[in-house]
Amino acid sequence: MAMRTDDWTRAKTSGVNPTQLAILELLEGRTDGLGVKEIAANLRVSQPTATDSIAALGRKGCVTKRGGETDKRAVNVGITPEGLSVLEVGRSSQSVAEQSVDALADREQEDLLVTLVKMIRHLQEIDAIPIQRMCASCRYFAPFIHSDAAKPHHCNFVNAAFGQRDIRIDCREHETADPASRAATWDAFQQG
Ligand code: SF4
Repeated sequence: MAMRTDDWTRAKTSGVNPTQLAILELLEGRTDGLGVKEIAANLRVSQPTATDSIAALGRKGCVTKRGGETDKRAVNVGITPEGLSVLEVGRSSQSVAEQSVDALADREQEDLLVTLVKMIRHLQEIDAIPIQRMCASCRYFAPFIHSDAAKPHHCNFVNAAFGQRDIRIDCREHETADPASRAATWDAFQQG
């Protein structure tokens, strides 16, 4: 309930509704944009609902359509600078959910993040949600390859080691690994 209230508060502050805000958050950092079908699947809403919300965001100048000159099915929706400004306005104050996470000790925050990753992965496995842009499904992720306990993981995109608390659950550089690599990476992550 607190998180839902957070969504409404941020949306109201930003001048959009929660579904529109969720669409903008989904499109942020996706330079190629997303198709309506992908947006609907990620938000677990119907395509007509997604279409209506996208149209409303378009009227506000927050999103624009890209591509599709030769194939209408290839039209993607991308966020505009106005859309990014709307997101910034919504992030100007800390949500109650963020405050409750901040109240946890560092180790508890880390455990919460790992638990969240496991829950998201399970939701992906049972097809409840599409694959998210998490390290755990990324072709660049190499878990537990370093002996440094503070930074055991490696990101091959930036070629740098990082720690458990820096695992990403929505990374714009994410590229989905093939199923066999995802399974092997997950095993290594679990065993670590
Ligand atoms: S590119 Fe992003 S998602 Fe992939 S391993 Fe690096 S930090 Fe994680």
